[in-house]
Amino acid sequence: MTRKIPVVEEITKANDEIAAINRTRLDEAGVVALNLMASPGAGKTSLIERTVPRLAENLRVGVVGGDIATTLDAERAADAGAIAVQITTGGACHLDAPMVRNALAQLPLEELDVLVVENVGNLICPASFALGTHANVLVASVPEGDDKPFKHPRIYRGVDVLVINKIDLLPYVDFDMRRFHEGVRALNEELATFELSCRTGDGVEPWVEWVRQRVGACATAARGAS
Ligand code: MG
Ligand code: ZN
Repeated sequence: MTRKIPVVEEITKANDEIAAINRTRLDEAGVVALNLMASPGAGKTSLIERTVPRLAENLRVGVVGGDIATTLDAERAADAGAIAVQITTGGACHLDAPMVRNALAQLPLEELDVLVVENVGNLICPASFALGTHANVLVASVPEGDDKPFKHPRIYRGVDVLVINKIDLLPYVDFDMRRFHEGVRALNEELATFELSCRTGDGVEPWVEWVRQRVGACATAARGAS
């Protein structure tokens, strides 16, 4: 059993090296990239549809869509006003750094300010594969249940911001927001959290503002460094 461990380390090490190359490429182009993770159906693409038109008012937005088999999500992102590239993983249940490197090569990075990478819907392995993005975003949703932080501690520990989607469904399901937040706080005390509904648009603005500030902060840091 223990002989498996070095193999896994080799895979993640090779992935991390390419993730570092991706990060350098993004930094050189002045692009802030977000890695959007969630379970299937939590609303990653819906969040992109809500967020892109607002960002596009004064930022240039790219979207990389990771999907097992279809280009449906990239089409929705393009309809929302982003320059979109689809990665079809051919069955793989997560994005890795080489896939993102290939996608970056297809994008006019110098013309973008912000890039949203929609990972494959899955709460397990996306947490283990660095992509070179600047911030990890987790999209949770009310129908998934308030026990998700307890069941998937690894991904909750590794993210920089949490979006809780589908708050319009709170009256109809047994979801204890307090219990959910307690679970989150136990794992990731500093986590920025936004409760919103992509369906109604409620709560979307503070989240959009967080993205804007993140993009602005990175641009300021880059100017200071040069
Ligand atoms: Mg999607
Ligand atoms: Zn996977």
